[in-house]
Amino acid sequence: MTTRPTTSTTSTTSTTSFDRMWGDLAPLGRDGGTGGYRRYAWTRTDHDLREWFAGECAARGLDVVEDRAGNQWAWWGDPDSTPGVVIGSHLDSVPDGGAFDGPLGVVSALATVDALRAAGVEPDVPLGVVNFVDEEGARFGIACAGSRIITGVLDADRARALTDADGVTMAEAWQRAGRDPAGLGRDDETVRRIGTFVELHVEQGKALALAPDGTDDLDDPARAVAIGTDIWPHGRWRIDLPGEANHAGTTRIEDRHDAMIGLAGVVQAARAYAVAQGCVATVGKVVVEPGGVNAIPSHVTAWLDARGRDEDAVRATVDAVTAEAGAHGATTTLESWTPTTTFDAGLVDRLHGILPDAPLLGTGAGHDAGVLATHGVPSAMLFVRNPTGISHSPAESAEATDCHHGVTALTAVVTELCSRKDLDPMGDAR
Ligand SMILES: [Zn+2]
Repeated sequence: MTTRPTTSTTSTTSTTSFDRMWGDLAPLGRDGGTGGYRRYAWTRTDHDLREWFAGECAARGLDVVEDRAGNQWAWWGDPDSTPGVVIGSHLDSVPDGGAFDGPLGVVSALATVDALRAAGVEPDVPLGVVNFVDEEGARFGIACAGSRIITGVLDADRARALTDADGVTMAEAWQRAGRDPAGLGRDDETVRRIGTFVELHVEQGKALALAPDGTDDLDDPARAVAIGTDIWPHGRWRIDLPGEANHAGTTRIEDRHDAMIGLAGVVQAARAYAVAQGCVATVGKVVVEPGGVNAIPSHVTAWLDARGRDEDAVRATVDAVTAEAGAHGATTTLESWTPTTTFDAGLVDRLHGILPDAPLLGTGAGHDAGVLATHGVPSAMLFVRNPTGISHSPAESAEATDCHHGVTALTAVVTELCSRKDLDPMGDAR
């Protein structure tokens, strides 16, 4: 029998458990020098985080099962009886990342289980809590590797052969972590269990922290949590700029063929065309050869990341940058492209019905929820206000009260979605 949790029960129980778990996680993988987190897949730190997750689930009487990508799933109820409702996120980080990107969703999901139990809510359908592995792709270069592997988007052989900065393959990393890489691969049985996925995440921009008039507004509780509607189209391109190595002191300016000059033009063009098209473009990674202070660069490889609300605008930006690069003799190669991901409209409507005050928000960041949505799993997201708007940095933040609002919102959502009367129409649709 499903009952709606009272606000007082939700806040007391889940606030206490949220704060305790947040404190437990805080030191894991934090670099003492930068204050940022270095939580990379299949490392010792990752092992500790996974043990922490399994321990929290065990303490709640939930068994953890691992799928064929190493994602961890804790189920309340039998996931093979009927597709369930899944909440959770990831525990890994980018290099020197913030505390909230990922862990906020996992800790909020566990606190939601506590809130439901304190309120006497028994889900009518299985409720899953997931910790997706390797979401950031910080070690092997492919973001959302855990969800891409189980959905078959990332081929098993390609995944096993991915290498980290030290030349260690994912297969070798699996072996070192005590796993058999032969078992890595697409996992239809796991995906079938996910009837609905709702990923709570820290907002990675300032939309919620700004009032409609553009001023900071961190007090409005109605703007503490937003409902995600879509993920902007985004892609990565590699730009190879040719040059000729020579001495930095003895080569006359007019005799030089300096690959770095071309890069300067490309970076400026990326900025200018992105502004003109109303999207964003970033050159965040560059490799220079031969890489000597006193040597003229013979080759520069740069990576362009471009995103925006409008797919045509992103493509127009990249076309213009490609033309600029071409004028410097460079070639531009597409490495990855993800079109607009629209979250399930019916699910977004239902979330809006449950959280009528929550703003609707698109995002420029990729997520496991996007991978699952593209694969046909009804998915959506909740975003918690981030006062700095900064993410992938130690400056990423969220106020404790907003985090608690997030748990309350997630609890309300799960209570409704796990109610048999509410899930039936979507169950039929699946
Ligand atoms: Zn994330």
